[in-house]
Amino acid sequence: MDQLDCVIAGAGVIGLAVARALARAGREVLVLEAAEAIGTETSSRNSEVIHAGIYYPADSLMARFCVAGRRALYEFCRHRGVPHRNCGKLIVATSADEDARLAGIKARAEANGVEGMRILTAAEAQAMEPALACTSALLSPATGIIDSHAYMLALQGEAEAAGAAVVFHAPIDAARAVPGGMVVRTGGAEPITLGCRLFVNAAGLHAPALARRIDGLAEAHVPAAYYAKGNYFTLSGRSPFSRLIYPVPVPGGLGVHLTIDLGGQARFGPDVEWVDQLDYRVDPRRADGFYAAVRRYWPGLRDGALQPGYAGIRPKIVPQGAPAQDFVIQGPRAHGLAGLINLFGIESPGLTASLALADHVAAIAAE
Ligand SMILES: Cc1cc2nc3c(=O)[nH]c(=O)nc-3n(C[C@H](O)[C@H](O)[C@H](O)COP(=O)(O)OP(=O)(O)OC[C@H]3O[C@@H](n4cnc5c(N)ncnc54)[C@H](O)[C@@H]3O)c2cc1C
Repeated sequence: MDQLDCVIAGAGVIGLAVARALARAGREVLVLEAAEAIGTETSSRNSEVIHAGIYYPADSLMARFCVAGRRALYEFCRHRGVPHRNCGKLIVATSADEDARLAGIKARAEANGVEGMRILTAAEAQAMEPALACTSALLSPATGIIDSHAYMLALQGEAEAAGAAVVFHAPIDAARAVPGGMVVRTGGAEPITLGCRLFVNAAGLHAPALARRIDGLAEAHVPAAYYAKGNYFTLSGRSPFSRLIYPVPVPGGLGVHLTIDLGGQARFGPDVEWVDQLDYRVDPRRADGFYAAVRRYWPGLRDGALQPGYAGIRPKIVPQGAPAQDFVIQGPRAHGLAGLINLFGIESPGLTASLALADHVAAIAAE
């Protein structure tokens, strides 16, 4: 049986960022990816927003890694030529009740270390974005957008330049703890069994299922998996806004917001639809809810202007109605198995947080 230093399950943005961090720390790294390419699941089915770090509870991993990861990500993009834009975002209130909530959102953001947050009157916000209807708004200048695929390619390139390898069509079936590390077995057309000192489970939506197939890991350490689908509708024609426009958050998500990609295409979403299966089709009948949600802050949205776009699925580890869950990063101190790090519930802001999260995983690996 071949013996390696580190094996990572999954070549999404998290697996690739972890591969880069470990390889640059001098570790031998093999990434095993079930699909035929990098980032075919959640990492290519999201809003591509570089989040500032506004909403997360102070001192949570999400807050810490989002703020640190965002700063590192802008730096990374600038130096590697990854397409991105620091366009800023407005969180818009459309009632007196929501006006009152903006100060609380601003205070939480500032406690997390988010720079430059500013409450605007309706007139100030409309001077920036004339198509907007609001009663007040909160400006987040640190927010931006990124080409997530270009980012993942850059991560893969740097990981490989530091000696890592990424293998596709290599779904990991099972693993087991052995003295000094782990044994990992893949299925697929050419099954392989490998020994390694460190196994990182970065399988995204499948991380709990994979963890359940790790012999030696107590069931108590494996969370249940729940899926909260987020549907997007795209706008025909160019965006009337130059910044991202978000409503005041709703339970379970950030509300149907407008994001713009680097080509100027506007899309609205994601909504929140709890599902049992990984089905990425967008039901066109959901458009009605989108028109209603968007017209609260953009009354000029024309009938027929929205088309079903795409969907992503949030890898939740708590059920609908439960308080939001932080990222869960379980190393040997949590579960008692040397040589295993499980990553659970890496939903938004995972893309933004990826570089900081990867540094954290590399630090656990070095303990
Ligand atoms: C609707 C939505 C919107 C979002 N918007 C944003 C945003 O704007 N900004 C932001 O910062 N974050 C956002 N996020 C969060 C972000 O997209 C995720 O946190 C991030 O993509 C998670 O990456 P990952 O590598 O953990 O998972 P994935 O990208 O899903 O990668 C996991 C990989 O593991 C592979 N895999 C699974 N099982 C196995 C196995 N057994 N063996 C080998 N490989 C396996 C899969 O094929 C996949 O490639 C959003 C998420 C959603 C759902």
